[in-house]
Amino acid sequence: MLAFELERPKTLEAALGILADNPGKAVPKSGGTDLIIWMKKRTIHPKILVDLALIKDLSNITISENGRLSVGTNVTLNRLEDYLDEREVLPALIDACRSHSDFTLRNKATMVGNVTAAVPSGDMIPALCCYDAEVETASLEGTRHISVLDFILGPKKNALDPGEIATRINIPLPEVAGTGCYLKSTRRSALDLAQASVACVMLCRTGVTEYRLSCGAVSPIPVRVFEAEKMLRGKSNLTPSLIEHSAELAVEAVNPITDVRSSREYRLQMIRELTKRALALCQKRIQEVA
Ligand SMILES: Cc1cc2nc3c(=O)[nH]c(=O)nc-3n(C[C@H](O)[C@H](O)[C@H](O)COP(=O)(O)OP(=O)(O)OC[C@H]3O[C@@H](n4cnc5c(N)ncnc54)[C@H](O)[C@@H]3O)c2cc1C
Repeated sequence: MLAFELERPKTLEAALGILADNPGKAVPKSGGTDLIIWMKKRTIHPKILVDLALIKDLSNITISENGRLSVGTNVTLNRLEDYLDEREVLPALIDACRSHSDFTLRNKATMVGNVTAAVPSGDMIPALCCYDAEVETASLEGTRHISVLDFILGPKKNALDPGEIATRINIPLPEVAGTGCYLKSTRRSALDLAQASVACVMLCRTGVTEYRLSCGAVSPIPVRVFEAEKMLRGKSNLTPSLIEHSAELAVEAVNPITDVRSSREYRLQMIRELTKRALALCQKRIQEVA
């Protein structure tokens, strides 16, 4: 790894100042579980790491009066999982946290880092897309809110401007009963990135059941399977033919590549299979809570 300077500002303003004073040289660090590996491999070589860990304002999880969950960039995946599990909210995101790496790494890795890394296999991305999550950013010019679907522009490319930091991810908590899940196919059972993944959310509005489906690791940008969501709207009983049809629509929505983890063909098969399993699992989970 090439030499670098480490800055540990205690306020957001100080962090933004360092980034603004060192354009192209300074990068923000959350857990560092991607960043340090990329630096060791020399795919990036920042001169200054701006470690955000000491900024207290970025270390909390809150729920606002209008039911918006807000997760700061320093919140680790283990902390997030405990918080959501205790309150029994956002089940697809709980599954996603549990599917990420292993317990030790989840004590460092963050949800914000997973999204800013913009790696297509990022485990948090499909569930966040299903829940209509947005990234909140800060720069010396002010604050922006960008939906996770629009935030990721391609592999390792996000919508942040130079000098901008992702401060939080905000998620509107569903106001109605429902359930959700996240399923991932991997080559081994731990510490592996997804070959393909599917998040599914089911929301039981009075009289109308709604579904949200999103696929991971099968496209350079996040994918919501809007055609399947439209077709499933209002169907509280998922018949085998509805599930089959949804799986075909999911396959049509994605465009995977062949790489070291999997072939394009295998990924398409896994999307078909995981979509069926995710819908069936949601149906099972909703019956268990009813
Ligand atoms: C052994 C191992 C196993 C892994 N397993 C998985 C897995 O199962 N699933 C998975 O999805 N990932 C996995 N990863 C990848 C990595 O752990 C995740 O992507 C993690 O969530 C990244 O979060 P972080 O906080 O460590 O990000 P960091 O490494 O700190 O940052 C990642 C990128 O985002 C930028 N960044 C970080 N914070 C901010 C911010 N606040 N504002 C702007 N830019 C920012 C950094 O500059 C960097 O470019 C694994 C990594 C390792 C080393």
